[in-house]
Amino acid sequence: MSFKNLELTQPILKALDAQGYTNPTPIQQQSIPLVLKGRDLLGVAQTGTGKTAAFGIPLLQLLDAQKNPKKGIKGLILTPTRELAIQIEESLTAYGKYTKPSHAVIFGGVSQVPQVKKLQQGVDILVATPGRLLDLMDQGFIKLNQLEIFVLDEADRMLDMGFIHDVKKVIKNLPAKRQTLYFSATMPQEIQSLANMLLKDPAKVEVTPASSTVDKINQSVYFTNKPDKRKLLLHLLAENEISTALVFTRTKHGADKVAKFLSKSDFKSAAIHGNKSQNARQNALKNFKNGKLNVLVATDIAARGIDIDELTHVFNFDLPNVPETYVHRIGRTGRAGNNGIAISFCAAEERPDLKNIEKLAAIKIPVVQGHPFPLDENAAPQAAQKKQGNRNRQRRRA
Ligand code: AMP
Repeated sequence: MSFKNLELTQPILKALDAQGYTNPTPIQQQSIPLVLKGRDLLGVAQTGTGKTAAFGIPLLQLLDAQKNPKKGIKGLILTPTRELAIQIEESLTAYGKYTKPSHAVIFGGVSQVPQVKKLQQGVDILVATPGRLLDLMDQGFIKLNQLEIFVLDEADRMLDMGFIHDVKKVIKNLPAKRQTLYFSATMPQEIQSLANMLLKDPAKVEVTPASSTVDKINQSVYFTNKPDKRKLLLHLLAENEISTALVFTRTKHGADKVAKFLSKSDFKSAAIHGNKSQNARQNALKNFKNGKLNVLVATDIAARGIDIDELTHVFNFDLPNVPETYVHRIGRTGRAGNNGIAISFCAAEERPDLKNIEKLAAIKIPVVQGHPFPLDENAAPQAAQKKQGNRNRQRRRA
């Protein structure tokens, strides 16, 4: 995917080229088209993901496209710290090198005089920290009645830093008719409530940064024989009284078999995968979310886009071949400040997959000993050797 696929105008593309950007990051790919269409946005992303450009680029393009722009501040970016405010304004300077909208940055702890002077020259996009913004509003130097696009950046940090009341005061002064882009790395309850209050029919985009997600989740691995995996799953679900779990299998057939097995044992389960109709998948998902189903068994492709805030357990019934997939799978739990538990089953032939995962995530996943279905080391070597042989052949071919 290139920036050219995102319906950006020439002046923006030229500026991105000058920055040496070739491809949009995932948050940019997802957000830019939605913002250009005028949608409200709920972006769950951290600094370092490219989120500044994800809101900055479409903001510049939308305002640049206006034939007879009104006078006054039309875009406001509210961010918690002086450092972030400065960085954002620098990014606007870079991405807006060939576009018309003017911009300025204001923050506390320094003289207001140069900031006021800049504001009096007329500013289209203002980057601000909450305290200085309110101060200059109170003094009558800033009016937000022409505002069209409001960006709230790092909402969770605003809360942590005690700025949430200031943010709410600012919001009271914004026109009701506006486009709002809301970004936060995490979604604690208060931040979600604020989002619900501010956003109208928002599109949600989320990027999961690999390493930090892995750190927050309680992970463990059970070595077991392949034919015993279903019994082990059932045992763990029952023993720990787990009421909702997402179970990943490698194949569609595997997903069906596991779901059937669990359903026979009083755990209401359904499988979702590519062979099921869209309707069946959506039904299963709906029933899972409203608690009618306890367990959803999914393949990786079918699970894409599944977003369940209160999911406590993810099971890797089969370990994925691609280690990044492990990180994405377990990132389904431990969201919104909740605790997450990720349990993996590893048969003898999956040991190399486990090794690769541990290498990628730079962790050692604790092994659970003393469970009722341990790996029979004597029975296993044949299968493991066969798989290793296949791998070596593949490697030689590559
Ligand atoms: P941010 O998450 O917005 O703080 O951006 C993190 C860093 O990534 C900044 O140094 C940006 O300049 C850089 N960056 C953002 N988008 C891209 C891109 N598409 N290609 C290369 N670098 C980027």
